[in-house]
Amino acid sequence: MIKEKVDSMDRIKELRQRIDKVNQQILKLLNERAQIALEIGLEKRKSGHAMYDPIREKEILDSILKENQGPFSNEVIAYLFKEIFKATLALQKDEFINNLKISRKYQNEDTLIKIKGEIIGGSNTTYIFGPCSIESVEQLEEVAKLLVNKGLKFIRGGAYKPRTSPYDFQGLGFTGVKIMKEITDKYNLISVIEVLNEKQLEEAYDYIDIIQIGSRNMDNFSLLRSVGQTNKPVILKRGYSSTIEEFKLAAEYIVSEGNQQVILCERGIRTFETATRNTLDISAIPILKKETHLPVIVDVSHAAGRKDIMTLLAKASLAANCNGIMAEIHPNPFVALSDSHQQMNFAEFESFYQALIE
Ligand code: PEP
Ligand code: MN
Repeated sequence: MIKEKVDSMDRIKELRQRIDKVNQQILKLLNERAQIALEIGLEKRKSGHAMYDPIREKEILDSILKENQGPFSNEVIAYLFKEIFKATLALQKDEFINNLKISRKYQNEDTLIKIKGEIIGGSNTTYIFGPCSIESVEQLEEVAKLLVNKGLKFIRGGAYKPRTSPYDFQGLGFTGVKIMKEITDKYNLISVIEVLNEKQLEEAYDYIDIIQIGSRNMDNFSLLRSVGQTNKPVILKRGYSSTIEEFKLAAEYIVSEGNQQVILCERGIRTFETATRNTLDISAIPILKKETHLPVIVDVSHAAGRKDIMTLLAKASLAANCNGIMAEIHPNPFVALSDSHQQMNFAEFESFYQALIE
């Protein structure tokens, strides 16, 4: 009886050793398979083929099942191989995301954007303030004087406004662009102006320093490609219904065309919450900073849509390690032609800005 037990133990030990060996072989083969799949993925990407090919998957499975002699049933084998296919596809996708030109894995160092003696990105904090819309020379000049007084360099202002209603003020158009150029020349400031289409990009290009692509245009891929073919920094705002991955891919559209000067701007996303205009996605900041090498700024005005929480949102964004803050200010928000309730007057701006720099 004792001898039988000992023999059996020896046999189990030997079988276990065989299993261990097979496991090692499976492991090696699985990774060999994954490596080949990654190479296929690379070729597919180069030639523009889709990663997932259900017909090919079915062919592989059929040919495997034809050879199956058990003891596993065809159902079990099919299940196991489908899991392998799933894991492979996820690996190919990860590899794809990690190899984007905007990815931290592709370039470890922070992208620094140099413009008129200023640097956006790295350890710098960039402040971009100005009215929602450019309304007149006088209005923009008042804002410019305030910024210059504080030693600030960047000024924003919309000339082509993406309004929800076609009957709302649409901006001064090219006249607004020219006002911005006049003011930035006079006060040695750096301008940020949004363009909504290629025609406006061409018309405004020589007059502006930084091109803004607004939330509503984040997935206007032809416009993204067009600004990617320019030589000017681009502030790309996150689409209000876009995931972080979609946001990153939109930035990749610009960078893939040769323009690496992209600044990502988190500006809130649409959620079920109605207490704010949008929900500021604070988590997007550390994620984008970790996964990409691009500067990340936060527009607190369009995120919150209300002034009473703006200082804390800006502080929270800075604490989350963003590279800058954008906010709307206006000499007299009551009479502003757009976003009047969310633009800060100069006194409000004073305490807002003070709180950020102290
Ligand atoms: C803006 O910055 O003027 C603007 C319209 O913002 P968003 O595209 O984020 O709505
Ligand atoms: Mn606005």
